[in-house]
Amino acid sequence: MKAAVIHEYGDLDVVRVEEIEEPRPGPRQVVLKVLCAGLNHLDVWVRKGRPGAKLQASHVLGSDAVGIVMAAGKDVQSPKAGEQVIVNPALSCGCCEFCLRGEQSTCVSFGIMGLSRSGTFAEQVVVPAGNCHPKPAHLSEEEAGAFALSHVTAWRMLMTRCALRPGETVLIHGIGGGAALAALQLAKRIGAEVFVASSSDDKLARAEEMGADHTLNYGKENVTEWIRRETSGRGVDVAVDTVGAATWPLDFACVRKGGRVVLCGVTTGSKAESDLRALYWNQLTILGSTMGSAEDFRQMLRAVNANQLKPVLDKVYGLGQVRDAMARMETGRQFGKILLRMA
Ligand code: ZN
Repeated sequence: MKAAVIHEYGDLDVVRVEEIEEPRPGPRQVVLKVLCAGLNHLDVWVRKGRPGAKLQASHVLGSDAVGIVMAAGKDVQSPKAGEQVIVNPALSCGCCEFCLRGEQSTCVSFGIMGLSRSGTFAEQVVVPAGNCHPKPAHLSEEEAGAFALSHVTAWRMLMTRCALRPGETVLIHGIGGGAALAALQLAKRIGAEVFVASSSDDKLARAEEMGADHTLNYGKENVTEWIRRETSGRGVDVAVDTVGAATWPLDFACVRKGGRVVLCGVTTGSKAESDLRALYWNQLTILGSTMGSAEDFRQMLRAVNANQLKPVLDKVYGLGQVRDAMARMETGRQFGKILLRMA
């Protein structure tokens, strides 16, 4: 079977589509025939690797997928062969302190498909049965293969970490990426008032169509001044940051006294400066968040089904075009999810 593989860290040219051995299910595992697999920024970070790190063996990229169950190993009650399922890529050791507390997103063994385990950019993938969930019936195969990681990330940020409430005000930087769009969608559904900043008028117009209450092109106007003006000097309750270095100093200036800043990504870099006086003087809360626990995933999926939520799709590529797909993600020009269709 074919898979998108890296043998070393580096630029796009290290990604190759190769024939690899078909996976076999071990105990409590199933093999999926992958239909569609969404891209995430995680795939770019994995490909680039940490400075100085060496890849031990060839590695299959990809964390999101929808697929059909082809085979099941021992001790699998569900899912059954032929069922369509989506994948929660955060694997659980089941026995560390964090897993026992139900916080698998911080499992000490931290097995993440596509990161430390073999990923989903393949014609077949082996997945623990407990990480498979029924495909939402209202979603197309493309939509189903591309929402899990972005939506669970947004869910954990807003619900579990920030405890967002109806009527609160939320600032989202850099609309267009999967997690930021999922945050916009969820925040609106919860009943929050959402401010969105981007450098693209086109993206802002689309964010308004999705329900954003206030939009700003930060290439034309200062974000802090805009937020202070629109909130009568108060600031927003929550700043959602998936951008990192470029927006971190703004977060501190844009939230109200006692406000929350939540960070789940650093697409513009991981080194940032901030005026720490704002942190203590305004009694701010800084929250880090990444992916989600098994319980976050179940809650997110119930919300997606109950509210018939759909991810925004940007562009669909074939497995053979995986480099083109990753190149588009790195331009930052996408609005919504980029994904691979396997067959
Ligand atoms: Zn664990």
